[in-house]
Amino acid sequence: MMGKKTKTVKVINIDLEKCNGCRACEMICSAFHASEKYSSNNPARSRIRMIRRPLEDIYLPIYAGEYTAAECMGRDKYVIDGKEYDECDFCRASCPSREAFKEPDSGLPLKCDMCEDDPPQEEPLCVKWCLSDALTYEIREEEVEDEEEEEQKDLTQKEMERSIKALADRYGLDKVANSMARLLKKE
Ligand code: SF4
Ligand code: SF4
Repeated sequence: MMGKKTKTVKVINIDLEKCNGCRACEMICSAFHASEKYSSNNPARSRIRMIRRPLEDIYLPIYAGEYTAAECMGRDKYVIDGKEYDECDFCRASCPSREAFKEPDSGLPLKCDMCEDDPPQEEPLCVKWCLSDALTYEIREEEVEDEEEEEQKDLTQKEMERSIKALADRYGLDKVANSMARLLKKE
């Protein structure tokens, strides 16, 4: 019989009204993920990107989500509180049709990892550095079916598969397979 379990869910809430487009979130995210942590910052390497159109009073922070190999077909315009957002503005995907959420040197997809660190950060750094409180961190317990819990366990495996697919799309499957064979031999 399927039972219920509780699962910890971590989310970052965005309050568009409070965002002033200062870009502190992009700066700290890119610095945290620099190799040699905090050695440099470059918004193009950030896992949160600002859609920033001051003349239209549009300031929209978007978190990097999943990689997608193909751009989507159906697109919409959004009008919220009289402001018109472009069709891709709310999309979190690292997608071939735009530059957002791609590592600038390698072109590989970027994804928000909630600032995973050892020891863990008290709260995600973009939240900590957002002095306008446009970003707030929430941890809550949710009831899930056992089955859902099992699905969660597969996520790491799926993430890995997606990363390998992204590498194969960019460099070709043969090159990726050869590099992996070399790496495994070294172990
Ligand atoms: S939670 Fe961390 S990894 Fe995610 S966008 Fe914010 S600073 Fe970047
Ligand atoms: S730090 Fe906060 S106010 Fe500044 S751009 Fe990011 S979300 Fe907006």
